[in-house]
Amino acid sequence: MRREVLLRLLLGLLLGATTEPFAPRDGLAQVIKSGSPTCPGVALTFDLCPVRKGSGYDQPLIDYLIKHRIPATFFMSGKWMVKHEPEVEHLLGMGFFEVGTHGEVHAHLPMHDADEQRGEILGPVKLLQEHYAHEAILFRPPYGEYNDVTVAVVKMLGLRFIQWNIESGDPDPTLSAEQILTGVAARAKPGSIIVFHANGKGKQTRRVVEQLATDVLPRRGLQPMMVSELLTCKPRAHD
Ligand SMILES: [Zn+2]
Repeated sequence: MRREVLLRLLLGLLLGATTEPFAPRDGLAQVIKSGSPTCPGVALTFDLCPVRKGSGYDQPLIDYLIKHRIPATFFMSGKWMVKHEPEVEHLLGMGFFEVGTHGEVHAHLPMHDADEQRGEILGPVKLLQEHYAHEAILFRPPYGEYNDVTVAVVKMLGLRFIQWNIESGDPDPTLSAEQILTGVAARAKPGSIIVFHANGKGKQTRRVVEQLATDVLPRRGLQPMMVSELLTCKPRAHD
């Protein structure tokens, strides 16, 4: 009970004076984990979480996606963006890439109050708006962690809350490309949203994506789509 009361107080502060009854539980329906099961596509999504060591950018992976014009969606954290300005420009310039955000400093959102969560979520959204004239609507919480406050804040900011239904596990250094591919392939189905990393933490990511794009997906009649395409399920016009 105390948690509920506290939550309502926080939400009250966040939303200001309102006469609307507010039911945060309803907001959970806003968390998107997959597209329609009738959609013949899957979304390959790549988180760009900040890194302490290394380049923080999987150049061979990006080169592969571009060379083969494979639609993909990137979730950029603010801290990653400030260290990768040319890469941000490059990714934004690709018509078959979609860019969303992934928090400012990659915080554990449920450990923070509404105001702090708002700041963490809004940081890279503003940066993309002000510095790159780009409206980023898609949002994915760092670590995939969220609570009712997160859902309410994301909704209030007019963003779309994008999780996944297939975790590749690609940052795990103990997994081989084969193991990652087997796990993803076993679960890939129409409408799937698959999470990978493009910050260099996934040593096998490029190999896995190549196998998916050239073998696993085509054999099942599935094609890679950007998240917003997957959600409206209009296959990309080939050009
Ligand atoms: Zn992340």
